[in-house]
Amino acid sequence: MSKSVSSTSPKPVDLCLDPSWIIPLNQQPSGNRERILSDCSLIINDGLIEAILPRAEVALRYSPKERLALDGQLIMPGLINCHGHAAMTLMRGVGDDQPLQHWLEKTIWPLEARHLSEEFVGDGSRLAMAEMLLSGTTCFADMYFYPGSVAAEARKAGMRAQLYFPILQFETPWAQDEDSYLHKGLQVWDDYRSDALINVGFGPHAPYSVSKPMLQRIATYAEELQASVQIHLQETAREVERHIAQHGCRPIDTLAELGLLSPLTQCVHMTQVVDTDIELLVASGAQVIHCPQSNMKLASGACPTQKLLDAGINVALGTDGAASNNELNLFAELQAAALLGKLTANDAAAINAFTALEMATISGAKAMGLGDVIGSLEAGKAADLISVDLTDISSQPLHNIVSQLVYTQSAHRVRNVWVAGQQLVKNRQLTRIDSSELRVTATSWQRRIRGTH
Ligand SMILES: [Zn+2]
Repeated sequence: MSKSVSSTSPKPVDLCLDPSWIIPLNQQPSGNRERILSDCSLIINDGLIEAILPRAEVALRYSPKERLALDGQLIMPGLINCHGHAAMTLMRGVGDDQPLQHWLEKTIWPLEARHLSEEFVGDGSRLAMAEMLLSGTTCFADMYFYPGSVAAEARKAGMRAQLYFPILQFETPWAQDEDSYLHKGLQVWDDYRSDALINVGFGPHAPYSVSKPMLQRIATYAEELQASVQIHLQETAREVERHIAQHGCRPIDTLAELGLLSPLTQCVHMTQVVDTDIELLVASGAQVIHCPQSNMKLASGACPTQKLLDAGINVALGTDGAASNNELNLFAELQAAALLGKLTANDAAAINAFTALEMATISGAKAMGLGDVIGSLEAGKAADLISVDLTDISSQPLHNIVSQLVYTQSAHRVRNVWVAGQQLVKNRQLTRIDSSELRVTATSWQRRIRGTH
């Protein structure tokens, strides 16, 4: 065979997807971030995106083992849920309609004191992962006790995850004091230091629940290990007022003073924001994680997202736990982010549909330090992607695809989900998690939590 023929023979690859549309959310400076491709295919090989190319060229260049026609469906990056407490799905609907401190102190913490265990966290996290996958989330952040159990479930489910082990001043069934939280968490960090899909970082709960010396130690460790830090910050006006009364400055000032504000730091909530806070966020390169539904449900306040974006701050999205949301549906979250962003800015042009979509994808990847790995569909990135079916009645007519995705209910339209090239949802069915077992397990926890068992 001549050299010229062999150099043009099609390359064997794992999978070719032929959707009606592709939204790559291309981030290249020369690229058009709002471009939607038609008549194109996406090639997956070895867990990575090999290429996105015109459908007519596929046969010439690639020989896929499998080819999947996705008529009426679009392909986009998998959604990234940057803040949550997965196992709290088992407390979904318990203690609704209470303000944050009362909800935490009178409902959640006493329930956790009674029920927290490896089993609780494993079962709750599996339930959360099933819900997230079915609604299009491929990567999630988690801040909860027994992070080793969450990691084990994520590994079984094949999901990408960033787990922030909690650090608190008070005792829980997982750890006794700040030192033991840190010690146990670092063990999990060590266990997963070379895992392809799971990263572990520091999760100091909040400035009011962790001591200053410990916050300072976390800053040092995070810098040394180049590990991310996630912290609830300026979630309510009361938190800020109390901090000012005790320390004479705002909570974010304390973090800056202790060296805990850097691009590795994810500030979750930030509903109470003044100009000096924005200056600190810009100067430090810290990330903001916005959880609009949780903030609305607990009446905590509203993060001024457009103002932060205008200042150049990276803003990503999280659902928070199912006990304060009450679902882990990132499509619903990005819709809420767009609507609340407009209301907060008093401007209908604020947080437009593309911006909301980016907050739930590439901005989440950047916040987690994974901007080169996931968050957009580009050759060389991981094949973390979803297909969304736009043939249902509520999608018609399709004047504007991104508008449909953001401003109408989209989670139920998710049909297929891949993480690192592995298909975890196939035609709306989970491939690795047993839904029937999950229902039985959730019902059993319902009885135990309600005290009828
Ligand atoms: Zn939270």
